[in-house]
Amino acid sequence: MSNFVFALDTNKRPLDPVHPAQARTLLTQGKAAVFRRFPFTIILKTASTETTQPIQLKIDPGSQTTGIALVSDGALIWGAQLTHRGQAIKDSLLARKAIRRNRRNRKTRYRRARFLNRTRKNGWLAPSLEHRVKTTLTWVNRLIKFAPITGIFQELVRFDTQALVNPEISGTEYQRGELAGFEVKEYLLAKWGRKCAYCGGENTPLQIEHILAKSKGGTDRVSNLALACHTCNQKKGNEPIEKFLSKKPDILKRILAGAKAPLKDAAAVNSTRWELYRRLQETGLPVEVGTGGRTKFNRVKLGIQKSHYLDAACVGAIEKLILKITKPLLITAKGWGNRQMATTNKYGFPITHRTRQKAFFGFQTGDIVRAILPTGKKAGTHIGRLTVRASGVFEMVTIKGKVSPVRAKYCQMVHRVDGYSYAP
Ligand SMILES: [Zn+2]
Repeated sequence: MSNFVFALDTNKRPLDPVHPAQARTLLTQGKAAVFRRFPFTIILKTASTETTQPIQLKIDPGSQTTGIALVSDGALIWGAQLTHRGQAIKDSLLARKAIRRNRRNRKTRYRRARFLNRTRKNGWLAPSLEHRVKTTLTWVNRLIKFAPITGIFQELVRFDTQALVNPEISGTEYQRGELAGFEVKEYLLAKWGRKCAYCGGENTPLQIEHILAKSKGGTDRVSNLALACHTCNQKKGNEPIEKFLSKKPDILKRILAGAKAPLKDAAAVNSTRWELYRRLQETGLPVEVGTGGRTKFNRVKLGIQKSHYLDAACVGAIEKLILKITKPLLITAKGWGNRQMATTNKYGFPITHRTRQKAFFGFQTGDIVRAILPTGKKAGTHIGRLTVRASGVFEMVTIKGKVSPVRAKYCQMVHRVDGYSYAP
């Protein structure tokens, strides 16, 4: 089931999103027109005075992919997964740095070092992280325009430090229900670096392990808890840790020290998420926050699969979630091209130059077009992302692969370049 379709009235006021079938009917009856292809939005030809249902916008920010979900009255009606390009940004900045360093060193007089004379504003984020915040906000602002959103929910932290209340110091026992268990697990995952404390094994299911076994009087407080893989957990059983690790004194020392040490703030606090939280508040909508522990708790309780957009839908305190859709919109940040005007060969000698123009025959690189090719090996209809050439002989990338040549006269615009590529 695909996403619900956004609907605007003739004055561009956002109305309740409609079921795809209803949107199709409105379009065929001529009561509405397509306003925008991605995300699919229709515009009615009449003004509407109907009151709208409140919709919650939910966000699960991730380092590579951010999940976005719209929930109306306990039902998931729209979902998207936004893939960021942080690594691409980092790579191209490093490449630029190398080129500049090389150029400076080639033929310059001596210049005094001045690399420590810069200051950074408060709240500065590295460009790759700033991009994450900005692209997420772009989509939040877009969705506010297309749907009657009344509140934002964001997953802010991985676990609730308030619920754990200085766990290492106070002797609170964690028997306050299942939710506390999920918070503790998330806390331990962060603290032990998602590894087995004994063998260092990664990418294996980790179990909560009592350093001093419960049968020997060990408590449930987090300073007595570690994470272990199934094998190590079984092997250790209720043996005292000193005996179990008697041949590995280094590991023993590390675990005993680690268990007592509280998790450093830096590992628990994600600056990008806090910055996003701060900027979400500037939208003027009420922003509520949830923890990763609660998201997981909700997802497991409701029997929902793991996926970025479903995780987003599970953020915060929820009682139920009706899945009215099963296919999210896949959004990938692509950037706006580069400013390089000359391409060089492997010796750094310029071989081709780009024109100053970006658009040719009314098309730009990144536009999503429908091409109806009359003849040739690739005859037929293709929809994909265009790469333009000055000659008017373009190339395009579709979900099935590359299509080339595509002449400008066979192209019809579907969606103008907006810095993202889409897959339904
Ligand atoms: Zn292990």
